[in-house]
Amino acid sequence: MRDVFFIERDPYAPIRHCYPVSKVLYEGKSEYQEIMVLESPEFGKLLVLDGVVQVDEKYEFMYHEYLAHIPMYAHPNPEDVLIIGGGDGGTLREVLKHESVKRAVLVDIDKEVIEVSKKYFPTMSCSFEDPRAIVVNEDGYRYIQDYEGEFDVIIIDSTDPVGFAHVLTTEDFFKFVYRALKEDGIYAAQTESIHYHLDIVARIQKALKKVFPVVDLYTSVIPIYAGYWWTFSIASKKYPVREPAREVKAETKIYSADMHRHAFLPESFYRRIMEGE
Ligand code: SAM
Repeated sequence: MRDVFFIERDPYAPIRHCYPVSKVLYEGKSEYQEIMVLESPEFGKLLVLDGVVQVDEKYEFMYHEYLAHIPMYAHPNPEDVLIIGGGDGGTLREVLKHESVKRAVLVDIDKEVIEVSKKYFPTMSCSFEDPRAIVVNEDGYRYIQDYEGEFDVIIIDSTDPVGFAHVLTTEDFFKFVYRALKEDGIYAAQTESIHYHLDIVARIQKALKKVFPVVDLYTSVIPIYAGYWWTFSIASKKYPVREPAREVKAETKIYSADMHRHAFLPESFYRRIMEGE
């Protein structure tokens, strides 16, 4: 089958990505969302939730390494980590590369995403059986409210901020994140495209600044996401975040101490885009 394309149904971006596909491997509907797995001659397998491509096998490392290692290496000794979302397992895999980690709790509202990933994405879901991993199927907004001073790093790896994922980008939620972190904890999340979702990026940064003393934005190029140039928001109770706090030892494909530093925007450019110029 040649020249067959899947057209993404992104509710926000003004453009539509078309991904070449050769086969539909899985199609189902969970209690929360439509789940599809497609085979692509260019990207390997694609995980699609509610019509939006979440991860691909070829480039997923560019997303997961940036999302996980920047907050993890900004912390000198992360032992207790919470991941909200991330049911494909890619962020968990990266977090567990840190020897300091004693416990990584992954809270994804949808257990079927985890089951589908275990079946179709073995290279991403390979860490669910790690004895340090704890999997909970609950709404992350609800889960986090029960904790105080519990986690060193909290990573939000959720779907776009619509429907049940929207609450994870509100000031109320950031207050719960702040409380659930230890006194020197760090938060990071994927926060959409620097081109097409600047209103969302600015809203999240503004809300974080009301709660945390250190707030910043870093970016990476994610070849499968609309606009390619993708943002990650990071917030810290104590440590600066633009430099790794310790030697980089994890085996990675793209993340390094240099890439950590280069991921952050120059101050002047950051201010300009936040002011909407
Ligand atoms: N890398 C992807 C992206 O940015 O396109 C996101 C990964 S995907 C596996 C995100 C996961 O977040 C989904 O499995 C979804 O079920 C989960 N999720 C969304 N909102 C959530 C919430 N409120 N609590 C817990 N998990 C949530």
